[in-house]
Amino acid sequence: MSDFPGAATPQSFSTLRFNNRYARLPEHFFSRMAPQSRLATRLADVSPDCARLLGLTELLEDGSDSPAREQLRQVMAGEQVLPGMDALAQKYTGHQFGQYNPQLGDGRGLLLGEMIVTRPGTDVPQEATFDLHLKGAGRTPYSRFGDGQAVVRSSVREYLASEYMAALGIPTSRALALAVNGERVQREVIEPGATLMRVAESHLRFGHFEWLAHSGRYDDLKVLIDHALREHFPECLAQARADTPSSDDMPLEDAVRIAATLGMFKTVIARTARLIAAWQSYGFVHAVMNTDNMSLLGMTFDYGPYAFLDGYEANLIPNHTDQAGRYGFAQQPGIGLWNLERLGVAFSPLIDVEALSEALGQYEGELQREYARLMRLRLGLPDTDDEDMTLVQQWRDLLTEGRVDHTHAYRLLSHWDVAQPAPAALVTLLAGTQGLHVDADEARATSWLTRYQARIAAADLSDDDERQRRLGMLGCNPLYVPRTHLLLEVIAQVEQGNDGSLSAFRKRLSMPFFRPEEGSVEAALTLGTAQGVDAELADDWTRPPALDAAPICMSCSS
Ligand code: AMP
Ligand code: MG
Repeated sequence: MSDFPGAATPQSFSTLRFNNRYARLPEHFFSRMAPQSRLATRLADVSPDCARLLGLTELLEDGSDSPAREQLRQVMAGEQVLPGMDALAQKYTGHQFGQYNPQLGDGRGLLLGEMIVTRPGTDVPQEATFDLHLKGAGRTPYSRFGDGQAVVRSSVREYLASEYMAALGIPTSRALALAVNGERVQREVIEPGATLMRVAESHLRFGHFEWLAHSGRYDDLKVLIDHALREHFPECLAQARADTPSSDDMPLEDAVRIAATLGMFKTVIARTARLIAAWQSYGFVHAVMNTDNMSLLGMTFDYGPYAFLDGYEANLIPNHTDQAGRYGFAQQPGIGLWNLERLGVAFSPLIDVEALSEALGQYEGELQREYARLMRLRLGLPDTDDEDMTLVQQWRDLLTEGRVDHTHAYRLLSHWDVAQPAPAALVTLLAGTQGLHVDADEARATSWLTRYQARIAAADLSDDDERQRRLGMLGCNPLYVPRTHLLLEVIAQVEQGNDGSLSAFRKRLSMPFFRPEEGSVEAALTLGTAQGVDAELADDWTRPPALDAAPICMSCSS
């Protein structure tokens, strides 16, 4: 989602323009259908950042019952579709927990339409197209035994996590708004229903290609590949056109497709590797990395029982149905590669297997490079040093063994002026004395901090550069995280009809690097220098789980 940054030209929700490219694919690629209407729907929250991305600033005007908001509410309630929308459920398949499942597809979400967004360009306005996908829109031919509903619990979780990921700069689908309805939905208990307006430049998943390859529809596979190249990877197509000579062996169109698909595969590999590097760096566990939840554009997609690490658990498995731990935190880099191999298999009717394997060879290096880059940023390491990754590894060991709160540790480190001795609060936190599981090891913490201090001192920064270094750290080490236990508190409020805490948490998660009171990382640094980090960590929205709280394991049912 990163090649279209910044605010779009304002447009009215009632007169959106659509270019429904997916709906022009062969009819058997999807099922056209209208959303089901939902009882008593209220608009619980709108994401201002996502609204600005789409130019829908009228949704942000004061008054929760503005005409634009009312119209959005109606669309999310299934009461109306806008002119130009062409709602459909997409067919795809995929590998779930390692097994191929041919019976997938949008079982409760509909692609309502692909909306056109313009942004003022330097010369001419630029155009982009975003899918509006309504999750919880009703049963479809791909619902199997499902009811086509989404519940408040999982919708709040997806809503907040996607807007937070975007704020961190990690590629993700977005969420424009969350609506809560009066449906009573049977899960492990009866839960209130909701719909989520998901926004993404594409909803193409690895599983779209697996469907066509596994069912032997190679002509359709070419059609879908051509669509993906034209609409989402035009640079790969242009490169292939420039590089491919005509020959007598094969029509030029086929030769270009082969070269372009390989180029696209390499791009997907690189983006997926960088995405998973970011997850590993920021302690995100997706928890259901099935190939139908893998985005062709390399964004975080389909949030389920995910978790952000609180205390540093090297292999957190937040999903209680994943008993084998296939999708635990530490497994993600390997699973990313396995999933890319499945995508490679789907391209193999067209492309030489050796070329596909060779392309996969770049994955590991790309992931490691990106991970190192991000960890250097998070630790504020100027330049590069051969020993940096050892320092990073020791830091992570310290956090893991001391069960140290991940977020607070980075935040305290970011506030430390290394010309001074390490603040007592930082030593105490890293020593693990606040955890219940281990004995404090202050010597180990001090020893790491001394090495860190020496590493920064060796860079010989001016006072101003040192200040910039810390500002850089504060600007990439969030104060706020969608902690599982805080999400549960917000969900309980929303289920009771109170949306205030949802908006309050969303506001913090979409500017996660400083408190709203400070309003900037500069002000956060000033506050930290004057009053220590306790001031910002006193904010209740940054509260870690209680030390004696049992880990929360979530159900996959959403
Ligand atoms: P997920 O685990 O959310 O990625 O979903 C996996 C598959 O199950 C997809 O095909 C979904 O559309 C479908 N699905 C999940 N929940 C439901 C539901 N409540 N009703 C219908 N289909 C569902
Ligand atoms: Mg899914």
